[in-house]
Amino acid sequence: MRIFCIANQKGGVGKTTTAVNLAAGLAQVGKRVLLVDLDPQGNATMGSGIDKRALPLSVYDVLLGTAGIAEARQASPKGGYQVLGANRELAGAEVELVDLDRREKRLKSALAEVRDEHDFVLIDCPPSLSLLTLNGLCAAHGVVVPMQCEYFALEGLSDLVNTIKQVHANLNPDLQIIGLLRVMFDPRITLQQQVSEQLKAHFGAKVFDTVIPRNVRLAEAPSYGQPGVTFDPASKGAVAFVEFAREMVKRLG
Ligand code: ADP
Ligand code: MG
Repeated sequence: MRIFCIANQKGGVGKTTTAVNLAAGLAQVGKRVLLVDLDPQGNATMGSGIDKRALPLSVYDVLLGTAGIAEARQASPKGGYQVLGANRELAGAEVELVDLDRREKRLKSALAEVRDEHDFVLIDCPPSLSLLTLNGLCAAHGVVVPMQCEYFALEGLSDLVNTIKQVHANLNPDLQIIGLLRVMFDPRITLQQQVSEQLKAHFGAKVFDTVIPRNVRLAEAPSYGQPGVTFDPASKGAVAFVEFAREMVKRLG
């Protein structure tokens, strides 16, 4: 079982879209995937076709230790993967976790129990360095960083890189950056091409080959309760995410 966080401290950069569509893409190439929604907004849950307002059990119960993942996860109806869902209740976990034992390792321990049941676990992180994100980073082998090729992109990245270094040094020696994924890319915009080149110059092989284009079908899919990958498999965005799933599998051997 390989565990990855989809993380970036900025909001609206494409984390959830990446988590949901990578999950569907990996499922499509035959992998058994669990998507963990660690954001109280519950967008990954809804985007997987699961009503966040009607979750019998969620990642909140798992973090507090009142339920196991095996009983709390459910299948995404169209996605082909399992989901450990989240909703607003999760926002309270932040406070409740503080007094608990091994508070940043709760998700890691819970995942150990379903070790043999999934090939990949993808964790959709909230846009902050909270105790929730810390649980994701402590559980993971690696981080996938979606980013838009915009002017301030590199600047924001240094915060994330520092955070990952600190977690690596203090809490999780396994943790590494698997790669940077260029998302919402529009090749007609010169600035995006320039930032993309800067990224490659600076991070080299850590930049994934696959580029996710800006594609309206990816943005429409959540309102139909499914990943873009299954909603419109022929769309450019869907094709790119399946390609990215293949690249992940290849890169990880
Ligand atoms: P985050 O989880 O980082 O906040 P989201 O994945 O929710 O970001 O994406 C932010 C917005 O951008 C959403 O409305 C989403 O549908 C849209 N979006 C994300 N990726 C793409 C893309 N490749 N093409 C077009 N729209 C996208
Ligand atoms: Mg999100």
